[in-house]
Amino acid sequence: MTQVFNFSAGPAVLPRDVLLQVQQELTDWHGSGMCVMEMSHRGKEFTQIIHEAEADLRQLLGIPSNYKVLFMQGGAHFQFGMLPLNLTKEGDTVDYVNTGHWSKIAIKEARRFENVNIAASGEDRHFSYVPDEASWAKTPDAAYLHYCSNETIGGVEFPYIPNSGSVPLVCDMSSNILSKPVDISKFGLIYAGAQKNIGPSGLTLVIVREDLLGHARPGTPTMLDYKVHADGESLYNTPPTFGIYVAGLVFKWLLAQGGLKGIEQRNIEKASLLYETIDSSSGFYSCPVEKPFRSRMNVPFCLADESLDDAFLEESKSRGLLQLKGHRSVGGMRASIYNAMTLDGVKALADFMRDFARSRG
Ligand SMILES: *Cc1c(COP(=O)(O)O)cnc(C)c1O
Repeated sequence: MTQVFNFSAGPAVLPRDVLLQVQQELTDWHGSGMCVMEMSHRGKEFTQIIHEAEADLRQLLGIPSNYKVLFMQGGAHFQFGMLPLNLTKEGDTVDYVNTGHWSKIAIKEARRFENVNIAASGEDRHFSYVPDEASWAKTPDAAYLHYCSNETIGGVEFPYIPNSGSVPLVCDMSSNILSKPVDISKFGLIYAGAQKNIGPSGLTLVIVREDLLGHARPGTPTMLDYKVHADGESLYNTPPTFGIYVAGLVFKWLLAQGGLKGIEQRNIEKASLLYETIDSSSGFYSCPVEKPFRSRMNVPFCLADESLDDAFLEESKSRGLLQLKGHRSVGGMRASIYNAMTLDGVKALADFMRDFARSRG
């Protein structure tokens, strides 16, 4: 089989060791004679799988005991609407920080339910940065403050956790969760679709402080009430069992990598190599994001001569470097280098970029 390196933004590459273990256990999980896909979600085998997944996640992130972990469905998009239904009353004001594509979609959905104050926006500089927190127009009694810790399309990542005071801090962490240690106690609620850095699509992770549960608006559908999922320990209805199983294996893989401190060191090394390659290309490549806010997970870059884009994509593909095309809304290139992307993969990309620049420059 040919070796490839997959730079997809999501669904994205998974650790090879995890995929091989899934393959090995596919038709017979731990001597049960069953595939995880075939098991009752209330049987003893799956109970063990989901409990271990939660325990390992709690260990990785140091999740305090007054937070619930919910394994849900519906992706981050579902959360955009669940948030206002659960965390606000009619007439409430919420603060949103707008740092790009995903912030905007979250804002659009929130506007259907509540007064949205844009506390800060990076739009004035084409979403190439995070506005200085000292300049944010925060609402003192906002129902929550929402931000996106890593804009997957624009490649803008928060280098810090905002200070929301006593207002619950809510974060769309879909594309950088588990990429570095994070102090969960600073948040009211964190959500993340699994398909970037956790596991297969179809699974969505929510980490929520207990005091925020039980306040859903009257008329909220049962399935959209966080408390229902918390009380049911993520088994109110049939959860995405196979996704939870694979995510559990990813959590074990992360623990074996030295946990989040260990993976962070590797992520820094990978991202530095790629940005270094871009910045030292004498303008052949450029990254539109201001340096302090450059994402360690998603590296967008442009070729100075756009007419070379197709050749770049074709030649990179022939070298086994896949899915480097930028998002349709911004064009150019994007290399997503999540936890499961190896340093070898990033080195192969950097080598190719230098060769390509030399041959065309
Ligand atoms: C991918 C992504 C989303 C959308 O996720 P879905 O699972 O498709 O709903 C939202 N926010 C961020 C930051 C993302 O990376």
